[in-house]
Amino acid sequence: MIITVTMNPSLDHAYFIDHFSPGIVNRFQTPRKSIGGKGINAGRAASLSGAKVIISGFLGGDLGQIVGRDLKDENLFELMMLPVSEETRRAITVMHDGNVHTEIVESGPEVSDEQAFHLMNEIKEKLNKENASVITINGSVNSNNKHLYKDLLKYIRTEISNEIPVLMDISGEQLLSLLESDEYKPTFIKPNIHELGELIGKSIPSKEVAIHEMSHSLFNDIDYIMVSCGAEGALFKAGDIYYNVEIPTIDIINPTGSGDATVGGFAYALEEKYSIEDTLKYAMACGMSNAQHAEVGVINKHDVELFMNQIQVKQY
Ligand code: ADP
Repeated sequence: MIITVTMNPSLDHAYFIDHFSPGIVNRFQTPRKSIGGKGINAGRAASLSGAKVIISGFLGGDLGQIVGRDLKDENLFELMMLPVSEETRRAITVMHDGNVHTEIVESGPEVSDEQAFHLMNEIKEKLNKENASVITINGSVNSNNKHLYKDLLKYIRTEISNEIPVLMDISGEQLLSLLESDEYKPTFIKPNIHELGELIGKSIPSKEVAIHEMSHSLFNDIDYIMVSCGAEGALFKAGDIYYNVEIPTIDIINPTGSGDATVGGFAYALEEKYSIEDTLKYAMACGMSNAQHAEVGVINKHDVELFMNQIQVKQY
């Protein structure tokens, strides 16, 4: 069983218009609605891979009810969504003028430390009854505690299990706080190449530059570091061994959430105890398959297996 944590899900609205002009009334057709949340997307990819998945997090207000109902209707996972009084956020994307994306993203309900630890406690109680093989924490949290994710990892390690792999696909100051701490280390992180640059304060133009930066002391003692590079595949570090993962060129429909599907695939492959090489191939193939679907986090297992044969994993 895989448990994913999404602290700040959203109801996403995508609007399409030929030309968008600020400062005047722009009229749109009804938006395409979908559920947003990195842990939800990762959970979807893991579930479609064949894993039993629990998705956990917070939902509130009328929008939270809609999101909860739609997630239930998907029939892909067990829900452990705790209620909060503030409304679940909306994220609006306007696609206009060719391929320009303009986004309006609400900050969403603020999660207090107490609520976050309450969720962890629910996960702990669940794991007293059932075994889980992986926990993933994905995406942002609206918290005034910039060390919250570091604190949650400590809780998992001390109160839930010192053994269970914890995959953390997070960014910004929460990731920095986690990496700067010597106390507990996540099993896996997956910054994309831009997030890697933000983290170390440099622009990273290529895989060749990225691979050097992966030996930065911030990444010491993390079992697995994946730097995903979109259509260029990924780089990976396990201990002192560095890998270059090369993927074939494919036609894509919507690459949004490919990173989340990659994390979901990684979690599934860990649970299945794949070799490192096959784990990397499986995770990458999930990202690729996601990019071939309009929906986010959706993969086709048959395509994933075909892609795996076309992916090359080379040690540096
Ligand atoms: P994120 O969504 O976190 O920014 P990436 O864009 O790096 O992550 O995508 C994660 C993985 O998904 C890539 O390593 C690759 O396997 C796959 N992927 C993403 N974009 C493409 C693409 N345009 N073509 C093929 N595969 C892609």
